[in-house]
Amino acid sequence: MSPSLSIGDRIMAIRQTLPEGVRLVAVSKYHPSEAIVEAYEAGQRIFGESRVQELVAKNEELGAMYLDLVWHFIGPLQSNKVKYIAPFVHTIESVTSLKLLDEINKHALKHQRRINVLLEVHIAEEESKSGFTPEELMELLEYLSTRAEQYRGVRLVGLMGMATYTTDEEQIDREFAELAQLMQRVRDSGLLVEGEDFDELSMGMSGDYPIALRHGATLVRIGSAIFGERASSED
Ligand SMILES: *Cc1c(COP(=O)(O)O)cnc(C)c1O
Repeated sequence: MSPSLSIGDRIMAIRQTLPEGVRLVAVSKYHPSEAIVEAYEAGQRIFGESRVQELVAKNEELGAMYLDLVWHFIGPLQSNKVKYIAPFVHTIESVTSLKLLDEINKHALKHQRRINVLLEVHIAEEESKSGFTPEELMELLEYLSTRAEQYRGVRLVGLMGMATYTTDEEQIDREFAELAQLMQRVRDSGLLVEGEDFDELSMGMSGDYPIALRHGATLVRIGSAIFGERASSED
């Protein structure tokens, strides 16, 4: 990150590196609402947050004023906290269990909404990262394939993954390739009820997004390269 550039400059610079059809999720976690407004003024609309309380607070500050601002939840999400974001969140990228999907569906229906959902896949070697294994993912999709009516509060739009935090680019490359292959496997499986909606591949962060782009990422989640280092490095 170049410290002399503004948030807007950095967004423009990153956007120029994105192929057509790839969208930028500006990961604003731990940064104040003012930083989001700066990005918004540079044309950015999709913002990623990873903590429920922080997202709720920012939505209260900004939601009424910036009506076309789109929130993506990207962090670990406890089922009992879904209710706080269900009224307004656009997409939840970090769905890691059927229990969580059930909860999102329930609260979305309560608010007469449909929330976009990405299923998170565990592609990294670190145990600390979460997500479905490919086998678990296929089982879940099989389960859902006969229950479309019940799950009309959620729209399955794709897969999300985080690569291992490493300088070994070949490893990152392998992990993103694996996710891209899994995406293809899912699309070919015949298990998707609304298969045409399932076209998002969310992968790539500040340090590794150029590699993700080579494997067909449609969403890149970039934080520190836009907003600078975060005060906390918890996630
Ligand atoms: C924090 C975070 C990002 C952004 O990370 P940077 O390295 O700051 O770009 C992307 N995805 C997830 C899931 C995150 O938690």
